[in-house]
Amino acid sequence: MDMRYTPEQSGLKRRAADYARLLMRYEDQSEQAGGPLPQELVTELTRAAMDAGVYAINMPAEWGGAGLSLLDQVIVEEEFGKATNCLWDIPWRPANVLAQGDERQREKYLLPVIRGEKFDAFAVTEPGAGSDPSSGTSTATRTDGGWLLNGEKWFVTCGDIADFLLVQADAGPERLPTLFFVDKAAPGVEMTRVPRFMHSAVNGHPEFTFTDVFVADEDVLGGVGNGYELTKEWSTDDGLRLAAPTVGAAH
Ligand SMILES: Cc1cc2nc3c(=O)[nH]c(=O)nc-3n(C[C@H](O)[C@H](O)[C@H](O)COP(=O)(O)OP(=O)(O)OC[C@H]3O[C@@H](n4cnc5c(N)ncnc54)[C@H](O)[C@@H]3O)c2cc1C
Repeated sequence: MDMRYTPEQSGLKRRAADYARLLMRYEDQSEQAGGPLPQELVTELTRAAMDAGVYAINMPAEWGGAGLSLLDQVIVEEEFGKATNCLWDIPWRPANVLAQGDERQREKYLLPVIRGEKFDAFAVTEPGAGSDPSSGTSTATRTDGGWLLNGEKWFVTCGDIADFLLVQADAGPERLPTLFFVDKAAPGVEMTRVPRFMHSAVNGHPEFTFTDVFVADEDVLGGVGNGYELTKEWSTDDGLRLAAPTVGAAH
């Protein structure tokens, strides 16, 4: 037994490794198809991830997630990285900041994601705002009962399969950075392009435009003006999620 791990962590590592080997069987198929796999297969692999306790690993167990500590999440992601970097987003990991939504937002957005019924994506980067996400130019203008969003977002990972996006935009004349839940099917949301990448992950990194998209007040995450702080929390977590499998792949 590897003494670096507790018996529970060794068990978790084994389950993650077994699951990653299952994914691996479909790596070639995904590569050949340039990414996508048949929906029934994705559903089957999703169910297997849930059964193995490696789905929604960053969400509390009382909400249906795997309820793993940060260290345990790294152990799981490292195993995923050893086996595959192509099918990583089948065992879904909701954006961590979704946990900060109020009860209504949790019921409407987060819990279906944890159950594998819906998918989220995070839209911060813009054509002129990448490394410095505080320099975005997307705006949210006050209207009756909510906001009208206008702007353009790039590199929205998994935006092609997402049901809703968390969009960072500057609210009001004070330009307060804020995160908005945006239903992808809402009028004014357009997925303009899905650029090709060198990798062949199952999902893409599309670009979106938002033209006078109405977002109700109740669909602001974490309060007006807190968007940048939440985005930083998300990108720290997302960086870890990217780094751990990369370390695993290097083993
Ligand atoms: C695969 C992939 C997935 C992504 N997923 C998402 C997502 O889900 N949601 C989302 O919102 N965004 C996402 N992004 C966007 C990502 O966050 C940006 O690409 C990243 O922040 C860099 O921005 P940029 O591409 O505009 O590069 P730039 O900011 O233009 O940087 C270009 C180069 O200049 C350097 N540089 C920039 N500023 C400085 C500075 N002040 N001093 C010194 N050097 C500097 C950078 O290090 C880099 O080498 C994704 C990107 C990729 C490639």
